[in-house]
Amino acid sequence: MDEEEKNEFIDYLNDLDKKADTLDASVHLYAIEEARLNNVDVPLDNIYNCVRKDYNECTGKDADDKAILYKYLKEKERYNLLNILIALIIKNMLEEGHYKDLFVLNNFELFNYTIMLESLNLLDTDNLEGIEFTKITDEEINVIIEEFLIKVDPTLEWLSIYRNAKASGNIIEIDKLSNGDKEKYKKRFGKLENCCVLDDETPYILLENSNTLKYIRSFFHEFTHYIIMLNRKIAYPSPFFSEYPSIFYERYLIKFLSDKGFNKEEINYLIKYRDIHTSNNSFDISIILGYIKKILSGKNITEEDEIINYTTHINSLSVETLEILQQNLTNIDIMDATTIMHHKCDNTCDILIKYPYDFNDVYSYITGKFFSR
Ligand SMILES: [Zn+2]
Repeated sequence: MDEEEKNEFIDYLNDLDKKADTLDASVHLYAIEEARLNNVDVPLDNIYNCVRKDYNECTGKDADDKAILYKYLKEKERYNLLNILIALIIKNMLEEGHYKDLFVLNNFELFNYTIMLESLNLLDTDNLEGIEFTKITDEEINVIIEEFLIKVDPTLEWLSIYRNAKASGNIIEIDKLSNGDKEKYKKRFGKLENCCVLDDETPYILLENSNTLKYIRSFFHEFTHYIIMLNRKIAYPSPFFSEYPSIFYERYLIKFLSDKGFNKEEINYLIKYRDIHTSNNSFDISIILGYIKKILSGKNITEEDEIINYTTHINSLSVETLEILQQNLTNIDIMDATTIMHHKCDNTCDILIKYPYDFNDVYSYITGKFFSR
């Protein structure tokens, strides 16, 4: 860089600092500063070119250089980077006027843990395979769905969205289609399986109706996607965060069904199914909530605390729960606590850098319904 370019660069950084309107930009500021202080050989010129672009538009050599910078940061500044990212999330929440969301953090965390814990308590490790589900009629299914929707959202907004979706044919039961229609829908949506798809800014739910509790479970999973798509008019915020609200409401539904006295074995199957299908494709936002809480209480996230928390947590689990975890997370016993915590920290940083606004967005879908009453 020549003198003029350097001045322009510094002006640009100062300007960025004032706005710091994206997490990506803010992290760059931090990273560049760190790299300079430590005389690290990172390709600053290319990063300068890249920082002006959106993360996903940054390609080729620029993207490679950016990756070098992140790698450096993660290796040398792992927890500092995480602290900065979480602080920026909080800043972003405040600037967007999400005071309420921060305020309900404690309530939400408590509620979230209660739901998870209660569903885990309902879990019985025996008789998990090959159970016959009781058949339920379409009318009975409709009654359960409506009752749960009223429980989740007493403003009845979700209930009316459901009724509208049904009336306008946006909920498509795959197995009830004629062969001709099956072909037609497959062509139109690109797939014909349990999912929620956006077609010309309108979301559709596609579902096989088995006329059992499994259908109700799948329905609420997809319906939560439906609500978010309806508001955002985009397919998914990110594959990590978008699953969380769906899984959250699924857990809540399972608790609801259990309270209503449905068959214990069937409830058990639903929980087990979710436990197995969650770990790989969903990011549990309670991890970020825990970090936010820590920063808000004036503390920093440190490696030492993380390892102590993890070890305490593992030691507090029952033998049965540990067995389930080990069955589903095969590497749990071969990695030590430090490696697992590094992985958790890096994973959180990666996701926050790549999808800076999705956390706030998704979190507000949950808090918006539960705590705005
Ligand atoms: Zn999903």
